[in-house]
Amino acid sequence: MSLTPNLADYASFTSSFSWEKEKSGLSGLPNGQGLNIAHEAIDRHAAGPLKEKVSFRFIQQDRSVMDCSYHDFMELTNRFANVLGEIGITKGDRVFSFLGRIPELYFTAFGTLKKVAVFCPLFNVFGPEPIFQRISRGDGKVLVTTKDLFEKKVRQLLERLPELKCVLLTDTDKDESERIRSLPRLMEQASDEFTVPPTDPEDPALLHFTSGTTGLPKGALHVHQAVLVHYATGKYVLDFHPDDIYWCTADPGWVTGTSYGIISPLVNGVTNIVDEEEFDATRWYSILEEQKVNVWYTAPTAIRRLMRMNIIPKEQYKLENLRLVLSVGEPLNPEAVTWGEKAFGMPILDNWWQTETGGIMIANFRSMPVRPGSMGKPLPGVEAAIAEVTEEDFNIITEPDKGGHLVLKRGWPSMFRTYLHDEERYHKSFKGDWYITGDLAKRDADGYFWFVGRADDIIKTSGHMVGPFEVESALMAHPAVAEAAVIGKPDQMIGELVKAFIVLKPHYNADDQQKQDITGFARKKLGPAVAPKEISFVESLPKTRSGKILRRLLKARELGLPEGDTSTLEQA
Ligand code: AMP
Repeated sequence: MSLTPNLADYASFTSSFSWEKEKSGLSGLPNGQGLNIAHEAIDRHAAGPLKEKVSFRFIQQDRSVMDCSYHDFMELTNRFANVLGEIGITKGDRVFSFLGRIPELYFTAFGTLKKVAVFCPLFNVFGPEPIFQRISRGDGKVLVTTKDLFEKKVRQLLERLPELKCVLLTDTDKDESERIRSLPRLMEQASDEFTVPPTDPEDPALLHFTSGTTGLPKGALHVHQAVLVHYATGKYVLDFHPDDIYWCTADPGWVTGTSYGIISPLVNGVTNIVDEEEFDATRWYSILEEQKVNVWYTAPTAIRRLMRMNIIPKEQYKLENLRLVLSVGEPLNPEAVTWGEKAFGMPILDNWWQTETGGIMIANFRSMPVRPGSMGKPLPGVEAAIAEVTEEDFNIITEPDKGGHLVLKRGWPSMFRTYLHDEERYHKSFKGDWYITGDLAKRDADGYFWFVGRADDIIKTSGHMVGPFEVESALMAHPAVAEAAVIGKPDQMIGELVKAFIVLKPHYNADDQQKQDITGFARKKLGPAVAPKEISFVESLPKTRSGKILRRLLKARELGLPEGDTSTLEQA
């Protein structure tokens, strides 16, 4: 299908772009009462010609399909906002979800935003420890979850979470207590009418936890104004056109699944497909076919798995509606970009962003020639650069093809506003007007950006950020573990796998039984997405003289690479 791209010419569009002008695509709350994400995504459409249009199409595990119009979704989210009022939630309170991709997750998100409370989604394969860390650091007041997830992973934490006022269970009809209540019952009793209160564009809206190299997860806080970026990137990168059927495969437990799996498509008034199931190549191809998907946003790990199947999907499935395939989350191999040509008849368009940026910042736009392996060019309205950064110095590198830190000029609307309870760390991530992303990259002479690597020890596994410290802390709780260090080991399929080096306490055996025991322990505590996939027992860990584990050195040794500067090494 040849539809003219919304952004037809990058250079001229960028030179005349302004965020102020983009605001005309949003409505704002009635009577100039501010800007609220949920109003932009749902209520304004429900009050106009899109009223009966499908907002969400939920594909359940058994493949049955449930459609929800913009109008129905307005009523559901109104009810949930009223439920929050009923249980005493007010502006700024944090509402957590711990759910699979079921309708409750989606109406919880928008109902929370309507109430001007802050929505924080948790990945449903987390184990109890990551859940505890996030709810306690985020001062969670409410958690929405299922009975099964609650029993397996949350009940055991309740005593340690005294601030958590209420748990709403999605699949029970009876309240267990004042604290553990039935969501369906409360929804039934609640009114389906709700007026979104005045919302300042700077009011907090979303809290996303992301991993740090040191310390526990960082809570990046975003405000309602971020919706301007969700809107603009939907229009110019995902190239939404009014009749589009769109599918984002990311889970809302990660930022892509929220910004682009919940908000951006609805703000742009398109139909959003949600699949409850995990990756399954045949299922995915048949969803693309049956649902006549036009725009598909997925991730490198999934694309590599599809490539392995050795079929040409466009020959076996009717994919003629597909206009755009995009990828984010990890580097997209050049072979994958060109495989897209063969598989779908179009290159796969890579783009770059991160939790802190709230929305896509660098992209291969549909109208632009693609350079396989490159992340593309900055979003209009976003200034990106490569810089030399040290404790004392900051210099923008203007020479092309020279590696350095990827930095962004402060001021785009979806920029995170703080790390919750960690202002100092927030300020440290800026040098003057520039935000230091933590990634290393290069820019070529034509302005395309190329990813080089992380500047820190953070692990990207199947597109998910894992902080080594969080894993090490959990391992240390095992009775046999004296010390632990965790690295990302390159893996062809999932990008990096989590590998742990462990020093055992005296008298514990370094054998396979021990490995299995520690692996089982870690999976239970952290969940399978975060727990180490490989364990090696070692006599000692390389450390600096100040006692910091040199993960970089462990990684170099593991990969047989040069060890680099070891002058601070205390012991080998
Ligand atoms: P997250 O905050 O979990 O979304 O992870 C963001 C990080 O993922 C970035 O800082 C990069 O390290 C990595 N990342 C995201 N998109 C890309 C991409 N297109 N190419 C390379 N790395 C990426």
